[in-house]
Amino acid sequence: MKIGILGGGQLGRMFIQNALNYDDEFYTLDPASDAPCHNISYFTQGNFNDYQTVLDFGKDKDVVTIEIEHVNADALAELENQGVKVVPNAKIVKTIQQKILQKEFYKANNIPSPDFEVMWDGNAKIMMPLPFVQKMNTGGYDGKGVQVIRTEEDYQHLWKEPTVLESLVDIDKELSVIVARNENGETKTFPVTEMVADPKLNLLDFNICPTQLSEDVQNQIRSITETFLATVNSPGLFAIELFLDKEGKVWVNETAPRLHNSGHQSQEGNANSQFEQMYRVVKNLPLADTDTFTYSGMLNLVGAEGFSGKVIYDGLDEVLKLPKTYVHLYGKTETKPGRKMGHINVLADSREELMDKLIKVKAMVKVRA
Ligand code: ADP
Repeated sequence: MKIGILGGGQLGRMFIQNALNYDDEFYTLDPASDAPCHNISYFTQGNFNDYQTVLDFGKDKDVVTIEIEHVNADALAELENQGVKVVPNAKIVKTIQQKILQKEFYKANNIPSPDFEVMWDGNAKIMMPLPFVQKMNTGGYDGKGVQVIRTEEDYQHLWKEPTVLESLVDIDKELSVIVARNENGETKTFPVTEMVADPKLNLLDFNICPTQLSEDVQNQIRSITETFLATVNSPGLFAIELFLDKEGKVWVNETAPRLHNSGHQSQEGNANSQFEQMYRVVKNLPLADTDTFTYSGMLNLVGAEGFSGKVIYDGLDEVLKLPKTYVHLYGKTETKPGRKMGHINVLADSREELMDKLIKVKAMVKVRA
């Protein structure tokens, strides 16, 4: 099959890396000439937000998929009209890429997500009680496009564009669950991952999998994933990001309609990775077994503050001496503060051992210029 991917970043790169176990051809579209996929696929330099570019890219492919959701969804819909298989479908991409539609989807399907109101511009009266979170309708990514409004003085900082105002959750843990559905309607769920964030960069820092959760919390998550998979009406692999609040209630924060950072440790930690599962979805094959072998974790390798330029990885030789530790670099030559350059997966026999190893590895490496 000719498989076309909108986006040529690390998610596409690791998807192709795994899918080379099979026999297909991979085509990627990305605006950056040195994107991580540029030298491992048939690469087109172009803007995946541009209608005509996406149409031209997709029209001769057997299937078109995405590794980023900020793509031209109208072009995906037109590709569907022309008989190209699009995974996930244009409708769900459109729903998810607009926070307002995404929140309405949860509400309509009784999927618990924090209360919200829509703010179209700066003029309407705000009914949402303080404190709340303001989220841009489109274009948010890696924590950009999200701000907390705590007091009435903060009102002056409100973005005057279409946004969602969402009640602030008193978060105990941030969790993620990756689910998959193929065209035949078969579904599979990965074990729940806990995401530990770096407060300064607001970027995912550690993943820990599996998590220790009460039966009640596990049941809430099961109910969310079952409802999501029953109502999503599209083949795809989806990362459902969750908040567990301090009272033990689970809320859906948002969903990514694609491979996700929270699933990277599945490369070595699970019977099959999220990348294998995505391949199965794209080709409508039987879905893969997602069991965990052991405790697994992931540490993002992000560019250190204060360094921009040709990347140097300090300490990787030391990391490579460690048992059950796996380095994944994304083929990016230039580092800048906060840029995701790679990740390290770690396996361990217990959660304590896993945390110790992750902290140790984190202290060993530095991504600088
Ligand atoms: P992005 O899509 O940019 O990752 P998110 O919607 O996931 O944005 O928000 C980024 C972070 O902001 C979350 O990981 C969480 O820590 C915090 N956050 C988002 N929404 C809420 C909320 N309703 N209550 C509390 N914290 C929130």
